[in-house]
Amino acid sequence: MEHISVPGSGGVVGMGFVCYTGFMLIVDYYALKAVGESAEAFFEYEDIWEVSRMLQVNEWKGFNRVVGHQQIITHLQNAIASDTVSNAYIFGGEDGSGKKMLATLYAMALECREKDRPCMMCSSCKKASDGNHPDIIYVKHEKPNTISVDDVRRQLVDDVAIRPYESRYKIYIIEDAEKMTTQAQNAILKTIEEPPEYVVILLLTTNPEALLPTIQSRCVTLNLRPVRDRQVKEFLMSNLHVPDYKADILTSFAQGNVGKAIEAARSPEFEEMTEKAIQILKSYGNRNVGEVLDVVRMMSDDKQNINEYLEFFSMWFRDVLMFKATREVDSLIFKDEINAIRSRASVSSYEGLEKILEAIEKAEQRLRANVNFDLVMELLFLTIREN
Ligand SMILES: [Zn+2]
Repeated sequence: MEHISVPGSGGVVGMGFVCYTGFMLIVDYYALKAVGESAEAFFEYEDIWEVSRMLQVNEWKGFNRVVGHQQIITHLQNAIASDTVSNAYIFGGEDGSGKKMLATLYAMALECREKDRPCMMCSSCKKASDGNHPDIIYVKHEKPNTISVDDVRRQLVDDVAIRPYESRYKIYIIEDAEKMTTQAQNAILKTIEEPPEYVVILLLTTNPEALLPTIQSRCVTLNLRPVRDRQVKEFLMSNLHVPDYKADILTSFAQGNVGKAIEAARSPEFEEMTEKAIQILKSYGNRNVGEVLDVVRMMSDDKQNINEYLEFFSMWFRDVLMFKATREVDSLIFKDEINAIRSRASVSSYEGLEKILEAIEKAEQRLRANVNFDLVMELLFLTIREN
């Protein structure tokens, strides 16, 4: 469920159980090449908004090219149309989910004076899409993991009194807002409580709960939810020209996060990792304990990608479980590995597969809690082997 909460209304309002569809910016990856950017440079950004900016923005029709997040878009467009723009918003959603894109489009729409906003053609929209709009301010921070009180004072609190240079609104965008220290949050709270009428503050965060309740209660909170698998797959196939089989794996892996899907689709490492994970999964059945330890050592060398591996493992065993229950190949993610999946399904019981899936989840939790890596992996592989 996607929800929009409005301060003063007692929480979630009027948006109900509408099927979630995230956003999908229709970008043609290959157009990037036309503007001379390499795929590598492109993925450093990890952000679809940056991608779109590298494309010729005129090709890009503002909110119309965003597929999904329809409720949020409608809410934002209504606010503009009915002149009920709030002074502060929280955009919540995981990395790659499209927070910055929606926030930036909203900022553009607020400043644009054309009928269809943002028009992407006027000088205001062009400046905004180039990142040079004088009245759209991205608050920067000096230390990578903290947004300090000095950062927000200098760029926001002490700046709000200066009227917009050329537009109706002065818009401040704070990315990674959860990195604000308590003092920084308290500093902007004052501005959020009594803002000049032209000020709009957009807080982008992976974790709205990390913001002070006093801030949350004064902001309109817009939560981005995962995009439907069908749409992610369609996007990957038609826009990034990913073949069907690979699109299934990527879609399942991305879990509704288009940014993550794109990044994985373009990453050669991802392909290598898929193959490696499949190799491990296919051969574990015959391993003795000593060989299990070898696999653990190998995984240990690739520690930084462990979450991805665990995700693969759980996709794989969900496939085995699905096949065992239905005998259907079409609904599997790893269709090409049907023989291995079939043979695993014949040796493992339902109960055993449940145990394995639980063990994978437990391994994730333990690694997050910094339990010794080798120990966690040994336990996991032994559970896989025994079941
Ligand atoms: Zn415009």
